[in-house]
Amino acid sequence: MRHINSLTNPVIKSLRALHDRKRRKAAGLFLAEGMRIVTEAFELGWVAQHLVFLEGREDDAMVRRLIKQAEADGTDIIMVSDAVLAKISRKDNPQMVLASFSERWADPENVFSAQLSTNLAGTNLAGTNPAGCWLALDRVRDPGNLGTILRTADAAQAEGVVLIGECCDAYSVEAVRASMGAVFNVPVVAMTEAEFIAHAMDYQGQIIGTALPASVDYRSPDWQGPMILLMGNEQAGLTDNLMNCANQLIKMPMLGRSDSLNLAVATGIALYEYRRHQPEA
Ligand code: SAM
Repeated sequence: MRHINSLTNPVIKSLRALHDRKRRKAAGLFLAEGMRIVTEAFELGWVAQHLVFLEGREDDAMVRRLIKQAEADGTDIIMVSDAVLAKISRKDNPQMVLASFSERWADPENVFSAQLSTNLAGTNLAGTNPAGCWLALDRVRDPGNLGTILRTADAAQAEGVVLIGECCDAYSVEAVRASMGAVFNVPVVAMTEAEFIAHAMDYQGQIIGTALPASVDYRSPDWQGPMILLMGNEQAGLTDNLMNCANQLIKMPMLGRSDSLNLAVATGIALYEYRRHQPEA
């Protein structure tokens, strides 16, 4: 364990730089803030590159537990002043713990191969449910929406989240925060629209798209998996190409004057409708 109180220390500067997407991608690392989220990551077996905590808190039971785990993992453990913590987290009232982790991106094969392995005793090669539901998000732009969707995907036990095209970063501080730690438990895959469409051609499950122009009510379709639930961009909705990929397009009725639901809310409604049709629901 080391003690750093200099705001210009290179490690502190490199951790602060993880707020910036380009610097995150260059380092392959991201930041998670707060006792609850960092504890969740550790419990799920993620190994932190750095564990940073507020000086004077080293005897708190929860901090001690994190330090013990970090020592066992060979993590760089850093005790810092309030000012340094505020500098890294870019907040006046920072959390007392934060950590950096390596990004993990799941293999696109996991999304499209579920059906191919249904005979492997109910699980496919990635250990996912062959009758499961992946969420695919077309150009999601708002990290708060993405984090909320990751949290919802975790709660409703979706297989994972596919980011299609130019999306915001699942590993931004805002998305990680909004996911409440679900980003550590939900596989995330990134691909271009062309890649998604190419894979979709051979996909043996069904693809259900959600779109305002749809005429089918969201309660009507056959919700049997394996499936991919396609959600559109906050401003533009799904592209025509992605709508054409879908076996069915569904809509949630808009009964008032608003013309659409918030993306994360629409995802929650559709995903729980899928869940309601599963045998264990
Ligand atoms: N102006 C956009 C449009 O025309 O699609 C609104 C996009 S909406 C904010 C974001 C996404 O949430 C949509 O692309 C769709 O996937 C989903 N969504 C929102 N409200 C919906 C509804 N009532 N029925 C089906 N999907 C909905």
